[in-house]
Amino acid sequence: MKHLDHFYIDGRFVLAAGRTTRKVISPVTEEPVGTIAMGTARDVDLATAAARKAFQSYSRSTREDRLSMLRRILDLFDQRAEAFAQLTTLEMGAPISFARNAQIAGSRAHIADTIRILEHYAFERRSQRTVLMMEPVGVCGLITPWNFPVLQIVTKVIPALATGCTIVLKPSEYAPISPMLFAEVLHDAGVPAGVFNLVNGDGPTVGEAMSSHPDIDMVSFTGSTRAGVAIAKAAADTVKRVHQELGGNSANILAPDVDIETAVTKGVLGAYRNGGQSCTAPTRMLVPRQLHDEAVVVAKRAAETVVVGDVNDEATTLGPVMNDRQFERVNAMIDEAVREGATLVTGGSGRPSSLNRGFFVRPTVLANVTPTMGVAREEIFGPVVSLIPYDGLEEAIRIANDTPYGLAAYLQCRDLVLAKEAASRLRVGQVMINHPAWDASAPFGGFKQSGNGRECGEYGFEAFLEIKAVGGLH
Ligand code: NAD
Repeated sequence: MKHLDHFYIDGRFVLAAGRTTRKVISPVTEEPVGTIAMGTARDVDLATAAARKAFQSYSRSTREDRLSMLRRILDLFDQRAEAFAQLTTLEMGAPISFARNAQIAGSRAHIADTIRILEHYAFERRSQRTVLMMEPVGVCGLITPWNFPVLQIVTKVIPALATGCTIVLKPSEYAPISPMLFAEVLHDAGVPAGVFNLVNGDGPTVGEAMSSHPDIDMVSFTGSTRAGVAIAKAAADTVKRVHQELGGNSANILAPDVDIETAVTKGVLGAYRNGGQSCTAPTRMLVPRQLHDEAVVVAKRAAETVVVGDVNDEATTLGPVMNDRQFERVNAMIDEAVREGATLVTGGSGRPSSLNRGFFVRPTVLANVTPTMGVAREEIFGPVVSLIPYDGLEEAIRIANDTPYGLAAYLQCRDLVLAKEAASRLRVGQVMINHPAWDASAPFGGFKQSGNGRECGEYGFEAFLEIKAVGGLH
């Protein structure tokens, strides 16, 4: 059991005495694996005051100072990589191989990429007769979800530190243990007192206090569209910058010229990554009608290769969903799709028969799904893939765009000229054609109700910068 009865404020782990506590429940065993102290608006005030004070000197730190600090952070992160992976598996149930090779390796790649950007970034430049000074935004309130508990924090905290901002972080109350190890890494790396602060707690209390705080200059949030709207409203009175990475329900369009075996297999396994709890999960597989029945056979075979169960076993590829609420919701969505006329190809609601506890959902394939069904419209966040038949690429693009979300889309197509044309018509923040290798420096974010702004790479770095235009210097 991990007892997180401390917050990290002004360079110290301070005892959060007298606060209410909350159990951290393992989605694998449904048993508590820890407790956290739940912060209050007063804790946010203390953390914000420390961050505001530290901003005076940290915003004027040199590139070299920040580079050496980030290199120390990377070094310590590497030393504790296995501990981060183990804690991720413990608190959110990611299979250990996925925790190591995707969640933690991805976090490391983001730290390294931010160092690369900071090494060459032009903080001062010219535009015609004006000098442009790129300056840190100020005190940043960072609010993160549980699905990639370390990576989501890294993609916000590291560029904020690199640009000279100071931070108040609120991790998800469902996965707060690995974030506390991250606070230890920053502490041991010598991040100056007050530059980074962490307060645990729930959204409506701590998150809301951060969003509306007059002394926080920017809120960067990743999570559900519902919470994103609440945060934007709470932030409105103080006119702060609000950066949002929200939900998705991504389409995976298979063009008629695809290799159906490869495209469907990769598509199904891609949808099950992280238990389907990835905001870019390719949950809607759009299949040419004439290939639909063949795709169903391949999809069933692919789903049945998934290894569900012991998350500490390297061979396991599917863990549980995060909590009882998600478990009920995903199962209800599967049942609703079947009631609406979808064909259940494999899986279905309820726990796999080999398991008698944990929030495990069977890897599920639904076929003959229509664009109006709930599974095609709502974000699922579970191991469910829906095959939607289409007639003609025009219709596929229309279906792909026919959702309030606009985070990602996938395209399987041999003809790259056609693929580029189709990509230009998809209203999403990223299009992945034929499963390219992951690029840590690619900007990440959504169109429409999937959010605004970008994380990662140089655009994500600039999200934490203000532009000051100075005239008259020549
Ligand atoms: P959530 O929105 O419930 O919670 C996310 C964070 O926001 C948590 O820290 C929570 O405490 C906080 N929060 C909740 N209500 C709040 C409020 N009113 N004010 C301030 N803070 C509040 O989301 P979740 O269940 O943790 O994560 C799953 C969601 O996150 C999914 O919808 C998923 O698509 C989305 N997500 C998006 C991205 C992306 O980059 N676009 C990445 C991962 C997850």
